[in-house]
Amino acid sequence: MAAIIDGRAVARAVEQEAKEQVDAMVAAGLPRPGLAVVLVGNDPASEVYVGRKLKKSEEVGIRSIEHRLPAETTQDDLLALIAQLNADPEVHGILVQVPLPEHIDTGNVLRAIAPSKDVDGFHPVNVGRLNTGTGGIVPCTPLGVMKLLDTVFDDLTGKNAVVIGKSNIVGKPIALLLLEREATVTVTHIYTENLADLARQADIIIAAAGAPELVKGYWVKPGAVVIDVGITRIKGEDGKTKLVGDVAFDQVQHAKAVTPVPGGVGPMTIACLLSNTVQAARAQLAGTSTDSFAVELDQLPDRSMIFSETEAQPGA
Ligand code: NAD
Repeated sequence: MAAIIDGRAVARAVEQEAKEQVDAMVAAGLPRPGLAVVLVGNDPASEVYVGRKLKKSEEVGIRSIEHRLPAETTQDDLLALIAQLNADPEVHGILVQVPLPEHIDTGNVLRAIAPSKDVDGFHPVNVGRLNTGTGGIVPCTPLGVMKLLDTVFDDLTGKNAVVIGKSNIVGKPIALLLLEREATVTVTHIYTENLADLARQADIIIAAAGAPELVKGYWVKPGAVVIDVGITRIKGEDGKTKLVGDVAFDQVQHAKAVTPVPGGVGPMTIACLLSNTVQAARAQLAGTSTDSFAVELDQLPDRSMIFSETEAQPGA
């Protein structure tokens, strides 16, 4: 029988650590971390997500500041609010709930958030830092996946990992984090041929496709570890809706360990958002966060850490 990785328990531990860090900040006379959550319109799923984030924030002692804006809010008005939040020293993290209404360019809005307050880790500066292994804020779901892998492995060096899905917010950052830990990574997607054969060679399978029960038992080699990021709501035989993952859970019991859906990666995403907010607040209060990538690159002593010798170096 595969061990079941209990995402709820790991998430509780991450939240407890965040709470202890907040308590220590308050005991030291520092302000509580502040998280601004911006919701435009009234998409029912977004309302649920935002409600959960606000509740969990309060539980760990983060001061949450809610901004609910009507669906017809203009992009300029939203950008003005973000500029105000960027400048507010009591706001350490800014989260804009997506999807945004169609008349707003989501990329423009996410790029307007100060990278040091971008607790979702979506800003190009944070993406660039992740890409070059130079710190920054890591997106919440990928960070949660790594924390779950850490409950199974001491070391990922040389492990063969197959990531299914290459989105900017899930698949790609997970692949980068695995590379950072010296795993050998194959990133696959909807057009990948022989996906089952590739998966069968993996020590670690990360399924992040949004394709219900895509990963069958024969895709998984005995003893592999399977992390299921996918969440799809489908109608069950009893007519009730249920959540299913990207892995045919019952067929992969020969794996070493597997995450369930629900109760696997899902709870880790909010826990890592809280952790990111606390780390962002600590960095801002310590004066160690910067919003510029270029400046910091110039300050690094050894540029070969960032650009391999065979690659052209800017300005070289
Ligand atoms: P996305 O639609 O942006 O990307 C999906 C990726 O999977 C694409 O690269 C696509 O090429 C690939 N893909 C789709 N079908 C495939 C198939 N049949 N075979 C191989 N590759 C396939 O989705 P996303 O935002 O990356 O989310 C992926 C899944 O993860 C979704 O189910 C989403 O709900 C879930 N998700 C869960 C959490 C969480 O907290 N647990 C967070 C974010 C996303």
